[in-house]
Amino acid sequence: LASRDFHPEDTVVETGNRTIGGAAVQIIAGPCAVESRDQLLEAADAVREAGATMLRGGAYKPRSSPYSFQGLAAKGLEILAEARERTGLPVVTEVMDQNLVEDVAAVADVLQIGSRNMQNFALLQAVGQTNKPVLLKRGLAATIEEWLLAAEYILNAGNSRVILCERGIRTFETYTRNTLDLSAVPAVKHLSHLPVIVDPSHGTGRRFMVAPMARAALAAGADGIMVEVHPRPQEALSDGSQSLDPEQFAALVREIRPIITAS
Ligand code: PEP
Ligand code: MN
Repeated sequence: LASRDFHPEDTVVETGNRTIGGAAVQIIAGPCAVESRDQLLEAADAVREAGATMLRGGAYKPRSSPYSFQGLAAKGLEILAEARERTGLPVVTEVMDQNLVEDVAAVADVLQIGSRNMQNFALLQAVGQTNKPVLLKRGLAATIEEWLLAAEYILNAGNSRVILCERGIRTFETYTRNTLDLSAVPAVKHLSHLPVIVDPSHGTGRRFMVAPMARAALAAGADGIMVEVHPRPQEALSDGSQSLDPEQFAALVREIRPIITAS
């Protein structure tokens, strides 16, 4: 079902007033995690003002350490709902547990499946039974074939609105947090009809590399980017070192405008 052989035209996923895929380019931005009402509303206003088209923010966070900040959970979802009301931006947020799919889907415009859950097949089937678009992040060490087969689980469960997200893979390189595989963009576009978003924040782990890799992603044909933005990155409870401040994000949007309008 994910294959272009089966479905030759590009899939365009609609959510609220946005389309992902086709001619549109989406700029999804916001903090790694919802940390407080003030932090999220400040971030949401700033990214909206700078030109983001969708808002991201995790209420449930898949942290490597059980002692790290785990997210505000249900309270975080309430804050995201308020931010959507206030800014009009559709919300992308992660769901980690099949038992919480209904709760997260009640607020999210797009359900995010994190890298660590790319092969959580029960979760893939559960989001496949909703009517919400699903942003499927590539697994930490997943091949393109494994990633497309994960998408297949969602499609096969009855949900045709799948968006792929390249977020870097684990390689021998340690300078960057992950190795952002931009060659995956033309590869999945060749193999599949699904839209592809690139996350240069997790893909590099380093703030100064986010803008150049965002530009490169769009030049490679990505349908959009997802970027972490925090009002005060030095105070972030997660992923501060890869988060842009609002001014840096505004500069990035100005840089990519010509690429977007040329495409
Ligand atoms: C995220 O986008 O918040 C996230 C946790 O990313 P990943 O699953 O790609 O590590
Ligand atoms: Mn993050």
